[in-house]
Amino acid sequence: LTRMYGPLTALSNVQVDVMTALVSFDRVFEVLDLKPMIDERPGATPLKGVGPRRAPAVRFERVGFRYPAAEEVSLASLESIARTDTAPSREVLRDVTFTAEPGELVALVGPSGAGKTTITHLVSRLYDVTEGAVRIGGRDVRDLTLESLRATVGVVSQDAHLFHDSIRANLLYARPGATDEEIVEALRGAHIWNLVASMPDGLDTVVGDRGYRLSGGEKQRLAIARLLLKAPSVVILDEATAHLDSESEAAVQRALKTALAGRTSLVIAHRLSTIREADQILVVQDGRIAERGRHEELLLEGGLYAELYRTQFAPQAGRREPEPENEPEPMGA
Ligand code: ATP
Repeated sequence: LTRMYGPLTALSNVQVDVMTALVSFDRVFEVLDLKPMIDERPGATPLKGVGPRRAPAVRFERVGFRYPAAEEVSLASLESIARTDTAPSREVLRDVTFTAEPGELVALVGPSGAGKTTITHLVSRLYDVTEGAVRIGGRDVRDLTLESLRATVGVVSQDAHLFHDSIRANLLYARPGATDEEIVEALRGAHIWNLVASMPDGLDTVVGDRGYRLSGGEKQRLAIARLLLKAPSVVILDEATAHLDSESEAAVQRALKTALAGRTSLVIAHRLSTIREADQILVVQDGRIAERGRHEELLLEGGLYAELYRTQFAPQAGRREPEPENEPEPMGA
């Protein structure tokens, strides 16, 4: 660590640049479904019998987790080094047990730093558990081939990263070899096809930092289109906190409904509508599941959830909830 990181701290400007680059790398991994930095076990086999209509259960069994100590992490996860002291790392998750049944929507809520994101990282094996096991369709994720795990689990992060490339190319990252018809179908499902069709270059329109400027909601819908094209049976979603205008918000919500239907999903929830619809809400506090249940039950308990609801979610009730509406007219039409 000192060898690698010491010189960087000495050159603070360089450090900033390196860290910025690494952070965006991390986002790329999220978009491409968190390419794990974990090896495939000898004898690993693919997950069988799952598909778009046969979603598997996702089960956490007494999961404990510590981020790897800085000396152990590979060069690829330099970001962890920046956030980890040389002292042994502390336990971030303890005794986490729950089951997301096939097709269920499980919402993770809780204070900042409670461990919600970490839980989702363990499903896609960005990291491996330090205790217990994570199972998909009854199989320990560590016994699956990485190819099969990547095909099974799809991730949409808060901050959809688009490459400076055409819309077609941005979608093909999700499924190389997809036909234009399949791409258009995914864009339709994500309620963004009308907009793309109205662009002069259609699927060839270049987006990204220096390309066609998409709004936050449009970027999210492209990320959802990527997910639909990939068609994973397990979805991990970090709901955006960014404030979208209500038209965009309504379109994103309709797109998400399509994307999550029939899939087992773990959602880091920020929206009132999501927690209300969730089959199960897990309230994470200090690395443990402090409360669990459905919205009404948890409100009645009058505990941490009721408090979170009052401070975080209830204020949204005052805002105009997006109404179901028709696809917005293509821009410029
Ligand atoms: P938020 O709502 O703010 O996103 P969260 O509930 O998702 O928070 P996590 O991001 O899972 O929380 O973080 C749980 C704990 O693990 C925090 O104490 C955090 O500092 C720590 N942590 C997160 N990522 C790393 C990392 N790569 N290396 C070391 N510690 C980390």
